[in-house]
Amino acid sequence: MTFDAATKMQFLYALRSKGVTDTRVLTAMEQVDRADYVKGTFADRAYDDMPLPIACGQTISQPSVVGLMTQALQITPRDKVLEIGTGSGYQAAILSKLARRVYTVDRYRRLVQAARAVFEANDITNITAFTADGSHGFAEQAPFDRILLTAAAEDPPGPLLAQLRVGGIMVLPVGQSDAVQSLIRVTRTETGLEYDELRAVRFVPLLEGLGQE
Ligand code: SAH
Repeated sequence: MTFDAATKMQFLYALRSKGVTDTRVLTAMEQVDRADYVKGTFADRAYDDMPLPIACGQTISQPSVVGLMTQALQITPRDKVLEIGTGSGYQAAILSKLARRVYTVDRYRRLVQAARAVFEANDITNITAFTADGSHGFAEQAPFDRILLTAAAEDPPGPLLAQLRVGGIMVLPVGQSDAVQSLIRVTRTETGLEYDELRAVRFVPLLEGLGQE
């Protein structure tokens, strides 16, 4: 299966029916072929609206969830974005179509290397992917306009909140790893932090330290 006009139409229709209505987000998702980020046995399911397994026991998120999280971030073209949880690199590629610069971090070196290779093959040059424990954020490049976590924390990590600029938005799943989590949006205002609860989600947990692959 290829990401041809008919497949794209179906893919975008499924996204819209799940509430992804922001045209800039839909256009970005039309520009990124999910099959490039899903390898092996599951490649033929790349355009289905479901999470799929990737290397290191991790998952590429469901496209509609990627769309809803991206939409909630309200990215503008001048934004510098930090993503925690590179995984396959699919979400980062979509962010790269909307933002000026994307930094993405994963605790598995192997995932970061594979994602970099796909970015390069697709001529995506505004993403920096690196291996680290992302719960500390990336102080060298802080503050960020937008921060996205694609792994669930029990609470928003303090170092990440500290790296969000005034007016900045962070979107993340919070909750216990094996229970239903909530996707929340945190906005930093002049006077503090505002929290919105968006919907129930299920993500892999945010873990400490580096992965062993
Ligand atoms: N955004 C990804 C999906 C990520 S799955 C995509 O589009 O494919 C969640 C990822 O978070 C996993 O790859 C996992 O290794 C990573 N992760 C979990 N805890 C982490 C941490 N503390 N720092 C960095 N990455 C972490």
